Amino acid sequence: MLFSNVIARRYLATEMNQRLKPDSVRCRPDRPDNNVCEVKFPGDITMGVSLIKVPGYVIARQMYARAGARRRGFDYACTPDGNLKLVNRPDIVRIVLIDLAGYFKNNGALRGEFTSRLERKANNLEPAWLKQQLLRFSLEYRASEPTAEEKEGFSKLDFPIYLLGRQHGYDSVRELMEQHNIPRTIKCIGVDKPVDPYRLAEKCWKGDAERGCGIPSGEGFRKVGFIKTHTVSSDPIGRRDLAQAFLNVTAHEIGHMSNICFHDREGLMKYPVPLNMEIDFSLGDRGFILASLTRLKNMR
Ligand SMILES: [Zn+2]
Repeated sequence: MLFSNVIARRYLATEMNQRLKPDSVRCRPDRPDNNVCEVKFPGDITMGVSLIKVPGYVIARQMYARAGARRRGFDYACTPDGNLKLVNRPDIVRIVLIDLAGYFKNNGALRGEFTSRLERKANNLEPAWLKQQLLRFSLEYRASEPTAEEKEGFSKLDFPIYLLGRQHGYDSVRELMEQHNIPRTIKCIGVDKPVDPYRLAEKCWKGDAERGCGIPSGEGFRKVGFIKTHTVSSDPIGRRDLAQAFLNVTAHEIGHMSNICFHDREGLMKYPVPLNMEIDFSLGDRGFILASLTRLKNMR
């Protein structure tokens, strides 16, 4: 059987719980930029199998689906008896740091330390659980602003976080929130009354004590965070170990973006979050973040 058909059938079986035989397949090797085979199944199901990452791995996703279909990567190998062996690749939870303040742009050493520690911290949240859920955090640093389409395109497992500076007023924050399609009201899970995230953000951005603002996704998936680089970097305690200070403030906002809408008495969700010590999420907050990730992952 064709390689693309095996992949498509595996996807249908594991992601959609359907066992079907393909009707037809159409590959376009003439278009190397779009190395996709379309595999058609009964019931108007079309699977796209992309070979663009071969020989690394293959990617499958349902095409022309109304709801956002999940993309799934597979590692592949051959068993000694000649059968194809497929292993699901993890879904990537992207933490995207967008440095509009240019704070880390020319400080590669500090940036490297901060971002690698943040990525490690996220992946150490609950390693066995993340592995079992097929989730892996990956950190991306960007020195330039995403286009409007990219902002629209941030998806459920993306955590976009803007690093802003003194020059950015609440107007900049509001505009970014609108471009990220943050709704006018959000309802935190377990909280009765919906809140206006724009008012939350205004109060937070204009407040002197806050070092960052994380907008929770509520029952949807749109979320965004803002870090006040000028406040973190000028803090007399934070200044002693800037990588640690940025790490704690950013992790705290990721907590809020994961629907932790209150502060805790201990751990990273304490307010104000300590800047100069290695600190973890409390057990309860960790559970909240993991539950939030599961919800986002399973959202259709
Ligand atoms: Zn907070």
